[in-house]
Amino acid sequence: MPVADYEVFSEMLDRARAGKFAYPAINVTSLTTANAVLKGLADCKSDGIIQVSTGGGAFASGVSVKDMALGAMSIAEHVHRVADRYPIHVALHTDHCQADKLESFVMPLVEETERRRASGRPNLFTGHMFDGSALPLKENLDIAVKLRERLRRSDLVLEIEVGVVGGEEDGIRASAAAKLYTTPEDTLEVARRLNLGDGPPLLVAATFGNVHGVYKPGHVKLKPSILKDCQEALAKAYGADARFFFVFHGGSGSELHEIHEALDYGVVKMNVDTDMQYAFTRAIADHCLKNYDRVVKVDGEVGDKKAYDPRSYMASAEKAMAERVKRAATDLRSAGNAMVKK
Ligand SMILES: [Zn+2]
Repeated sequence: MPVADYEVFSEMLDRARAGKFAYPAINVTSLTTANAVLKGLADCKSDGIIQVSTGGGAFASGVSVKDMALGAMSIAEHVHRVADRYPIHVALHTDHCQADKLESFVMPLVEETERRRASGRPNLFTGHMFDGSALPLKENLDIAVKLRERLRRSDLVLEIEVGVVGGEEDGIRASAAAKLYTTPEDTLEVARRLNLGDGPPLLVAATFGNVHGVYKPGHVKLKPSILKDCQEALAKAYGADARFFFVFHGGSGSELHEIHEALDYGVVKMNVDTDMQYAFTRAIADHCLKNYDRVVKVDGEVGDKKAYDPRSYMASAEKAMAERVKRAATDLRSAGNAMVKK
């Protein structure tokens, strides 16, 4: 299917909220990892989201170019070209972008969408994320309001983050004193400033004890009930239909019952990065360790071209990551829920 535009994406989000499931939003940094997501989603009949981070975009542009917007464009162009070969819907999103990177990452991508629309072509990305969680809420929302106006003109979806997720992502480490739980008051302020229900959907990454990156099981004390409190405050202030589309960041390694509780309270998108990185690399490590004297030229021998051809282990890694995507879609209950072709 073609990459989801905001109307298709809105329908996806409505279906997820009504069905109490969420879409895996998987970070990719290359053609192979993007292909792995498409394969995994298609194999389990799930729609989903492909994301590119600032670091992922820089990497994809080449180690000497390091242009995060350019690399993100390359990946997005690839996904537009191949998405038609898979019978599922996929939205294209950009991941965490702090205020100081908006000009060099998100804005060039928005401008590219504006150019594409002017010539009758579809948007490059479905939506973009602005991460102002390190700023005071007022400054965070001042920037979000301006950005939402600009994105709205091109039917682009905005995702914001309120409160601070612990841990580290793309080299940005949250301070230990950071505010780890979003409050109902924060939620009401977001609704007041960003006009719920007006224009493309608004995605909100709220924090309820989530941690970005790596940790051992048991380290995280999630409180999904925070989301319920926020939704109830919204409904009270803006009517029963007022709801946010919540996004779950920093959920790698969470207990399944906690994930399901979060889905029950309105999480419709869950970012999954770390677990995918591991699945991909695990397959390559396996290949190299099992075939050590074939991938490496040992003691004057010549190795084995079949074993060190990057396609051999990259194909294994694509399949292993696709399996992990299937597991994520199953955990998030999106597997089997792909929208039927109309
Ligand atoms: Zn986040």
